[in-house]
Amino acid sequence: MRPEILNPLFGETQSLKGVGKALAKPLEKLRLTRVKDLQYHAPSYWMRRKRVVELDEADVGLNIVAEITPVDYRSGGPRSPFRVYATDGPGNYISLTFFGRNSGWPKKLLPLGEPKVISGKLERYGDELQILHPEVLEPIEKDEIALVEPIYPLSDGLGNKRMSQLIEQAVALAPELPEWIEPSLLASKNWKSWHDSVVSLHRQEGIDAADRLAYDEVFANQLAFMLVRASNRRKTGTPIEGDGHLRDKLDLPFELTGAQKRCISEIDGDLAQSSPMLRLLQGDVGSGKTLIALMALLNAVEAGYQGALLAPTEILARQHFEGLQKLLTGLPVSLAILTGREKGRVRESTLMGLADGSIDILVGTHAIFQEKVQYKRLALAVIDEQHKFGVSQRLMLTQKAERIPHLLAMTATPIPRTLTLSQFGEMDVSKIDELPPGRQEIETRVISDGRIAEVVDGLARHVASGGQAYWVCPLVEESEKSDLAAAEDRASTLCSRFGDDVGLVHGRMKGPEKDAVMERFQRDEIKILVATTVIEVGVDVPNASLMIIEAADRFGLAQLHQLRGRVGRGSVKSNCLLLRGDTLSETARARLTLLRETNDGFRIAEEDLRLRGAGELLGTRQSGEAGFRIASSEQVTEFIAPATDDARLLLDRDGGLESERGQAARVALYLFEKDWGVSLLRSG
Ligand code: ADP
Ligand code: MG
Repeated sequence: MRPEILNPLFGETQSLKGVGKALAKPLEKLRLTRVKDLQYHAPSYWMRRKRVVELDEADVGLNIVAEITPVDYRSGGPRSPFRVYATDGPGNYISLTFFGRNSGWPKKLLPLGEPKVISGKLERYGDELQILHPEVLEPIEKDEIALVEPIYPLSDGLGNKRMSQLIEQAVALAPELPEWIEPSLLASKNWKSWHDSVVSLHRQEGIDAADRLAYDEVFANQLAFMLVRASNRRKTGTPIEGDGHLRDKLDLPFELTGAQKRCISEIDGDLAQSSPMLRLLQGDVGSGKTLIALMALLNAVEAGYQGALLAPTEILARQHFEGLQKLLTGLPVSLAILTGREKGRVRESTLMGLADGSIDILVGTHAIFQEKVQYKRLALAVIDEQHKFGVSQRLMLTQKAERIPHLLAMTATPIPRTLTLSQFGEMDVSKIDELPPGRQEIETRVISDGRIAEVVDGLARHVASGGQAYWVCPLVEESEKSDLAAAEDRASTLCSRFGDDVGLVHGRMKGPEKDAVMERFQRDEIKILVATTVIEVGVDVPNASLMIIEAADRFGLAQLHQLRGRVGRGSVKSNCLLLRGDTLSETARARLTLLRETNDGFRIAEEDLRLRGAGELLGTRQSGEAGFRIASSEQVTEFIAPATDDARLLLDRDGGLESERGQAARVALYLFEKDWGVSLLRSG
């Protein structure tokens, strides 16, 4: 249970004074639903104001505070603004200009002859000085008015003034929390307590408070990971040591690469232990992860256990199922699939087979770990495309069996080291750093979208010569609908030239619909597949050797690299065309150039991390599960090592988090909603 001291932080924003229905939406949009979200809502910048006595001596463009007296009103025509003319003490004139409002409001704010203190950005309009929509302050506030003011990230219907008031209320609710940071670190950084840091985040410009608060988040994250790890070590798994009788029967048309062999033996080593494996397998697209998974699964089956392979989407689950079926031809291994689509009797019989142990390997989507699915002796779970699943799902898996199954997570997103530590801190890592031989380099070119007609001609030649192609449509920020519209438009223009050869898949399609299109593409009935990013992970069509990506500058580098990895899977030379807009920033240009120059996923990922941050790289910006909310990627990079050390040290000394500092650390875990970390302490 959450410590009581944190309750005020988890109160709903709705409960604050003056938050009505009208603010609900903007608050939601900014993800400020609880009091603590407001406490952590850092200013995006600080506005400086200068107090001026003589207006004509102030610099145009400055934000100023000045005392003036309104002397005249002037309303122009219906389209022109309402102006209040005013003078400062020495007699300079200024126009206080109000657009789009009737005159009642400015007149009420600024009655003639009454001195007022105003604030706003000083501009010159013709010969006149003016301030557009000045803020009018009561004279009494003159000495209290902040000359430096935090400006917050805002949303429609929620202005800075309201935001500041809400934050002030929220900050007033911040309790003193026990200190969880190692005292020597706190001292060396000169950081304040949590409470004082929250206060100063909104009171004064500076990075210390923000750094401390970010450190907290990284620390809680690492601590939670370490608790998973520690608890996992205490658990009993099932040592697996197959005798090789199934593996030996596999008839592979190729030799395993050295990297594959190494990864397999690392995994075998883990499986032989009685504490459950927690291993992350990283390998670029096409590096042959599936085969490694199969080897691990066969090891389990040889030893008399069951294995499960979890894929993030229906399409990938089916692809894995069919791929494994082929590889397992002639082997006495029973393979089944379970997704949301298997219903009725088929589903029932699969469930039975799992329960009575007649099914050896189950492939499927998250459906395979639902309540109703009971395994007879599950000993290994493999998760493909790990980053699409969060930590809670990972844990759910391990709750399932009586004995905790070994866990192998696979990802094609090359993850830089700092991120591995922060996202998968509790896992061991195996890397496939070598592609199977004979892979054709993918030639990547960046082309201005003004030349799209040439691109379409090239596509026509490609199709005429028997090739297939992907056409990926731009990702439009925030709106799935317009993603879809863009893809539909593109599909219909291409249809007018290529007719039935064009197919369309997008994220809004239902599983079966999507699969039907993908299958037709796989069977070469569709030549050109127009898609939103749903094809991003894993789909394998060797005959597709041309990838066209529209508005490539809107994608992350790692994402482009993944998309590009869809081609280059067959024996013919593959091409990737990145279409770009004409107005491209220097950075955008440099990023696309990097893609053209290298195929090294790790290098690309490092660069993407530097340029765009962790959430973007992992594709979890929206989901919030794996992302950090408070810490920026720079802060994660800076604090990951000390936070990891700090967490490790704490657990070495006080594994049950019982000491005073241990108790404080529990508060930090709850604060960052790592309750599952705490629950592992108890179940210990
Ligand atoms: P990914 O790591 O992207 O999941 P896959 O496991 O789908 O990669 O493998 C990509 C392709 O490479 C598959 O067609 C697979 O059969 C093939 N492959 C895997 N290992 C080797 C190897 N050692 N030599 C040649 N081809 C291989
Ligand atoms: Mg794969």
